[in-house]
Amino acid sequence: MSVRSASLIVIAAATCVFLLASDSKQQRSSAPGYDDTPVLPGQPWRVHDIKRPHPPVVTPGAQLGMPPSDAIVLFDGKDLSQWEEVGKRQTAGRTGPPNWKVENGYFLIAGSSGDLRTKERFGDMQLHVEWAAPPEIDGSGQWRGNSGVILMGRYEIQVLDSWENPTYADGQAASIYGQYPPLVNASRKPGEWQTYDIVFEAPRFEGNTVAKKANVTVFHNGVLVHHRKEFIGQMAHKIIKPYEPHGAEEPLVLQNHDTKTRYRNVWVRRLKPYDAR
Ligand code: MG
Repeated sequence: MSVRSASLIVIAAATCVFLLASDSKQQRSSAPGYDDTPVLPGQPWRVHDIKRPHPPVVTPGAQLGMPPSDAIVLFDGKDLSQWEEVGKRQTAGRTGPPNWKVENGYFLIAGSSGDLRTKERFGDMQLHVEWAAPPEIDGSGQWRGNSGVILMGRYEIQVLDSWENPTYADGQAASIYGQYPPLVNASRKPGEWQTYDIVFEAPRFEGNTVAKKANVTVFHNGVLVHHRKEFIGQMAHKIIKPYEPHGAEEPLVLQNHDTKTRYRNVWVRRLKPYDAR
């Protein structure tokens, strides 16, 4: 083979590679959508509808568990400005600034104070809460780090030290208090930080009757413990308390059960439907 022929072969091969690359680039750009595809059942949109709005962009937290850009941060380790205290027992009915103590990036339940509730109200929500029961064990059953995440001030996900601490199953950590135990006990040891990631759908009322019950999905330390489970009614001790009509949004409450449970990194996102602009 002459030098010229060899050069022509090399040039032809290079051209082929270039053309193939160009061709594959063309193949990798897809249409932005379609207007001639079937309409999706129950939706106003076609399959791959070119007119369907894109969801808002959200920047995730830098680490898993940290608030994304659209979260409402309820406690960032500094102050309780998003909260107020609701008196109970001897101070029933009193509301005012929280007496709960803030230190070292967390806040601590103060023994004789009341519950803590958010100034803002929430209905359907994604909620992230981190909590830790006291490291020292000075009680048993319901007296080991009892507190509670009470959605809409009525529907409680129990907070309790359930590490080798028997109590009634529907009152242990991550239970829907008085209604359902968690699917598994994913508790960490006393004193260790634990997480709840909660997806809550608020009840809907028609007049004085409940048209749609509240339901909840809960991950305890990343482990699924409730999956869209319906609340039977409101949180109560030793009784079944039915639903009572309330607002579409209500304050989130953290329970004071006279134990030194700590909380940190609390944030919430309101849930919106698909295609919300
Ligand atoms: Mg409780």
